[in-house]
Amino acid sequence: MGDGESAPTGAPDHIGAGPPSPGLPARKYKVIGLMYTRTCPLACEHCITESSPQVKERMGFQQARDYVQTIARFSSALCFTGGEPFLYYREIAALIREAKTLGLETYIVSGAGWVREEARTRTRVKMLADMGLSGLHISWDQYHEKFAPQERAAMLALIAIETGLEVKIRSVVSPTWAKGENQTIFARLPVEVQETQIVQLGRAASLPASHFAFSDKPPKGSCGVVFSPVVEPDGCVYACCGPSHYGRKPSPLFLGDATTDSLEDILAQGLNDPILEIIHNLGPYGLYQLLKDHPIGQEQFKARSAYTGICELCLDITDNPELVSTLRERLLDRDAKRLLIVSALWRNRKPEGNTISISDPHFAL
Ligand code: SF4
Ligand code: SF4
Repeated sequence: MGDGESAPTGAPDHIGAGPPSPGLPARKYKVIGLMYTRTCPLACEHCITESSPQVKERMGFQQARDYVQTIARFSSALCFTGGEPFLYYREIAALIREAKTLGLETYIVSGAGWVREEARTRTRVKMLADMGLSGLHISWDQYHEKFAPQERAAMLALIAIETGLEVKIRSVVSPTWAKGENQTIFARLPVEVQETQIVQLGRAASLPASHFAFSDKPPKGSCGVVFSPVVEPDGCVYACCGPSHYGRKPSPLFLGDATTDSLEDILAQGLNDPILEIIHNLGPYGLYQLLKDHPIGQEQFKARSAYTGICELCLDITDNPELVSTLRERLLDRDAKRLLIVSALWRNRKPEGNTISISDPHFAL
């Protein structure tokens, strides 16, 4: 695979720089996620992956090793997400060692629900760091707080820093929680705190309306995570971690099933999908613009009365096979190809602050 010929015309920032090595794809993903397990000691009310102690989905270890081999051909970074990856820290340690030998940077996202005594926490973090782990991203916010005291997250952060890991705190914020409230406990630590807005997906769909900020028009904003795919425990591969799990076949957000097709082919096809390119560069609003003057778009697309974020617009369009096929036709014509090139140039030049934040705290780089 590979379409290196398109890169010089305005390579999006998910594309690796420089000529590819022989046999490697010319374009690369910024990061690829491996959801080793969906099980989690917590059951947060906003959880987009609907994880909990009762959910038992888990990847086979040998299967995960095979995935890591393929992932190394398509990205320079691997993120273990979940669920709670630390529940299987021995397997994750072995996978980190494998990834390291393949040249991958590795990251883990943890909800800190497993953290108890300091000594045991330190032993586990050190084991992963010794295998080559680069960074730890701790998800913590008002929803986690209901299940696990913030002191656990703070202790995990401190131990990880002392172990030499790069640490980030990722929090989902909502109108029911004051902005910046989470930062107090981490204020004295050298950590970056990233806040993302909650959207009405996964378990969050059951929360009262007071938890969400609504807009009454199809929302604008590009998507910074559409080229950060994730492989879930059942082998399904999605274009982003979290929201696209709710996409239905033949949605372009569902990249494929790695138990029936090769992960290599699935990842290669995803890199070349112009619909994902538009989502990355212009956001789902770019798809909406391509559809709104088309007869099929006018007939099939029904705007919601209220949106909590761009993911809802994205799913409404990509879940509709007729809209997807209309988009594919439109993206074949010369003007649309020009749009792709211009949008890639525009996306690369605009400030980082214009990208969206999704409500999934389980994925980051
Ligand atoms: S949000 Fe994270 S910590 Fe909370 S239940 Fe989901 S996976 Fe577990
Ligand atoms: S807009 Fe949302 S659903 Fe669509 S690709 Fe981005 S994160 Fe996923």
